[in-house]
Amino acid sequence: MKCPVCKNMMIVVEHEHIELDYCPDCAGVWFDAGELDLLFETMQLEKSILSLDSILTSPDAKSPEKKRKCPICSKKMKKSTVGHDPEVLIDACSRGDGLWFDAGEVGQLITQIPSIQEGDSQGRIITFLGEVLQAHE
Ligand SMILES: [Zn+2]
Ligand SMILES: [Zn+2]
Repeated sequence: MKCPVCKNMMIVVEHEHIELDYCPDCAGVWFDAGELDLLFETMQLEKSILSLDSILTSPDAKSPEKKRKCPICSKKMKKSTVGHDPEVLIDACSRGDGLWFDAGEVGQLITQIPSIQEGDSQGRIITFLGEVLQAHE
């Protein structure tokens, strides 16, 4: 699969049976819709903050960022903001294939998920993503 930003080939990183596509050049991450569900299930997190349905039904975010193409269906993706303080601008496939995060955006969002503010889940998700993202720096 090609990176929607720099068009280089992404690499598949796997941890606890969850596979993500990671671009070693721009450090962006693609979450396949199915992998996203699996991630939240594995981490026992509330899905509300990153529900693909609610992202797709919300209005487009205004952004000077160029629209990107979905790495799966090649259609232009929708800009959407998730979380708050700061809002994180992500790209979502309008067919529901998955979500794209630029470098650092996953980290910004994780700290805002209420159910992982405390306790084990936060530790586990940060370890998970940390391993995935650092292993390939
Ligand atoms: Zn890239
Ligand atoms: Zn798509």
